Amino acid sequence: MRSYADIIIDISTESLDHTFQYLIPGELQGAVSLGSLVTVPFGRGNSIRTGYVVGITDEPSIDPSAVKSIIDIRDDNKNRPVAKLMQLAVWMKHYYGGTLIQSLKVVLPQKSAVRPVVKETVKLIAPFDVASSKLEEFTRKHHTARQRLLEALMRAESMDKRLITQKLGVTSSVIKAFEKDGLVRIDIESSYRNPLVIDRDDDGAGRLFGRKITEHTTDQKRVIESVLRRYDEKDLRPSLIHGVTGSGKTEVYIDIIDGVVQRGHQAIMLIPEIALTYQTVVRFTARFKDRVSFIHSKLSTGERYDQFLRAERGEIDVMIGPRSALFTPFPSLGIIVMDEEHETSYKSEQMPKYHARECAEKLAAISDAAFVMGSATPSVESYSRAKEGTYMLYEMPERITGGELPVVYTVDLRQELASGNKSMFSEKLMHLMADRLKRKEQIMLFLNRRGYASFVTCRKCGFVYKCPHCDVSLSLHKDGRLHCHYCGHEEEMKGVCPECGSKYIGGMRAGTEQVENMVHRAFPDARTIRMDLDTVKHKGDYEKVLSAFANEEADILVGTQMIVKGHDFPKVTLMGILAADMSLYAGDYRAAERTFELLTQAAGRTGRACGPGRTGRATTDHTSFGEVVIQTYSPDNYAVIAASRQDYKKFYEEEIGYRKIGGYPPSGHMLMITIEDKDEKRADRTASDIADLCRTFAEKTDLLMQIIGPADAQISKINDVYKKAVYAKCESHETLSLLKDAVEGDRADKQDFRSRVEYDFDP
Ligand code: ADP
Ligand code: ZN
Ligand code: ZN
Repeated sequence: MRSYADIIIDISTESLDHTFQYLIPGELQGAVSLGSLVTVPFGRGNSIRTGYVVGITDEPSIDPSAVKSIIDIRDDNKNRPVAKLMQLAVWMKHYYGGTLIQSLKVVLPQKSAVRPVVKETVKLIAPFDVASSKLEEFTRKHHTARQRLLEALMRAESMDKRLITQKLGVTSSVIKAFEKDGLVRIDIESSYRNPLVIDRDDDGAGRLFGRKITEHTTDQKRVIESVLRRYDEKDLRPSLIHGVTGSGKTEVYIDIIDGVVQRGHQAIMLIPEIALTYQTVVRFTARFKDRVSFIHSKLSTGERYDQFLRAERGEIDVMIGPRSALFTPFPSLGIIVMDEEHETSYKSEQMPKYHARECAEKLAAISDAAFVMGSATPSVESYSRAKEGTYMLYEMPERITGGELPVVYTVDLRQELASGNKSMFSEKLMHLMADRLKRKEQIMLFLNRRGYASFVTCRKCGFVYKCPHCDVSLSLHKDGRLHCHYCGHEEEMKGVCPECGSKYIGGMRAGTEQVENMVHRAFPDARTIRMDLDTVKHKGDYEKVLSAFANEEADILVGTQMIVKGHDFPKVTLMGILAADMSLYAGDYRAAERTFELLTQAAGRTGRACGPGRTGRATTDHTSFGEVVIQTYSPDNYAVIAASRQDYKKFYEEEIGYRKIGGYPPSGHMLMITIEDKDEKRADRTASDIADLCRTFAEKTDLLMQIIGPADAQISKINDVYKKAVYAKCESHETLSLLKDAVEGDRADKQDFRSRVEYDFDP
């Protein structure tokens, strides 16, 4: 029997994005498999090109006499994990759209010229007493960077220089000074580009960052045992762990992964980029020693490739990293764990706009691997799947320390205004801030600016302009009119509130800088530190700000959502959430969910040290309760109420009702097709062509499909490129994928690629 291979030539050339069929010659039968890299004659001149095998079949799709033969095999990929990733890429192309090449580039390790690089290890050589007296001196003189480095080295003995500069935020000049003083030696070796530190304090548990874990809690045991038992029974239904922050989820992940590794398989641990802290790496290293590696966006292509190579060669068992770590080519992948599964950073913003959760589920199915997700505030999609039984649900409702939940006060900003307070801080917040400053406890002020859209609200009655068709907030455009991002509905903005007639109506505008100024005016002696996109522009800035705050170099940390993501500051006993509403009216269907998440996470940042020795750091004799002040114009909104009670289930029940009514995920799916063009007329023409095609398609399908648009996209013009959008809503993702195929097919038939067309599912 003759067999044929579908081959994609040279993935660096976008214009060749279709497969060509070649005969697999007798001598290569059996050697050529999915993912093989082969050489073939190509084009009229039969120039020799390389290509990947993406499919194998017995049925030629073109005249067999015209089929050319594969010349040779360059890399047989036999039993190589690349084949599974290839399968994933083929699925991604269909599911999300774009070219196969785009998908392949995402999943295949991108090789760059692999040159061995130099690894610099900083090793502490000074005797213990010398080091300790130096440490004392640095502490006394407030040389915080030196102090930080020496402390870390006294714990770890030796560290990768890169880790010191990137994670500890200590500059090379400080390291050089240490070397000159004879404190450290810098060892240079050329090896893999391995960014890992091996910690000497390897008691396998959180001795560094918590008390020693002697025994798992009942909840932890229950989850670990169940997941591993199901793994052995080949019940590979995905698992969702709904556990409050501090319930010991990370410990559970580590143990489940350990179990799977002991069974001879490998693990991928996905975490949102921002949560990839030094702590996480240390906790995993403590258990898996040098069998663990991590990748993150700051690594070079070469470093990344090296880590993938080590995985493929079986030199490591665990890969930690953000969404791209999913494509680690392990020989026998056994489990994928995804922490904070609700995080938006799991979705890619470039074509293919894939969601790591969906891809992980697919890859786990392809690989017979387990898939475990965890979150304190699961996405509505995942939780509903868990409730239906598609996912196995585990609840971990208790904090390990039994630490008290914070006390939450909701302040109605409309009443503040009524009583004459026009400032950003409510009276309640002012009063509590003064109290904490007096007690020398720390405060965080969170300015919720996520999805900062220019929605319009009335400060007197809380009225918000909404689209009469789409149930999302309208935004104020430069033309002074209010627009809906989904359907293009427009209306005039009146000078007074249509509800109560007040003149306090307008867009909400406030920045962290203004908040900081306000603090200085109200509390001239308070030391503040600010964290937002302006203050953390460079590598290491983020860690610098956080460690400065942890070292108590400031009393108040003012920041955007960056400050609410999973950092432990035991001295923080007050969290002020200014304008909780900003994300509530972000103008898309996920706005309430994001608001609930942010408020819950922010509230969870405080009062965490109450409870015995949770962080191992000494707290003051007097430990205040954690208190949270939520300032809002919408105190009656269900997301705000549920967050103030830290009640996920209550939120979910309300939210799922709205999603059902609106046909939004998980009740239905939405496809956003964006059209970008420098020429606005052409953009409009393409957009209305596409909308017409969608409407024709919608009439022909059996399922109910709603087409909305074309309208200006949320950001309608960037760098002089006009952006239009067409939306399609349907209960079935597959039907939307077929619609996308139809649109792509039509563009290809017309050979019209001047406007850039992109697809985004469940945006
Ligand atoms: P989560 O990931 O749910 O936020 P972690 O796994 O980080 O929770 O646990 C929170 C803290 O409790 C950590 O400092 C951890 O070391 C500690 N911890 C976890 N499990 C136990 C246990 N069984 N006994 C004692 N401390 C524990
Ligand atoms: Zn009003
Ligand atoms: Zn609308």
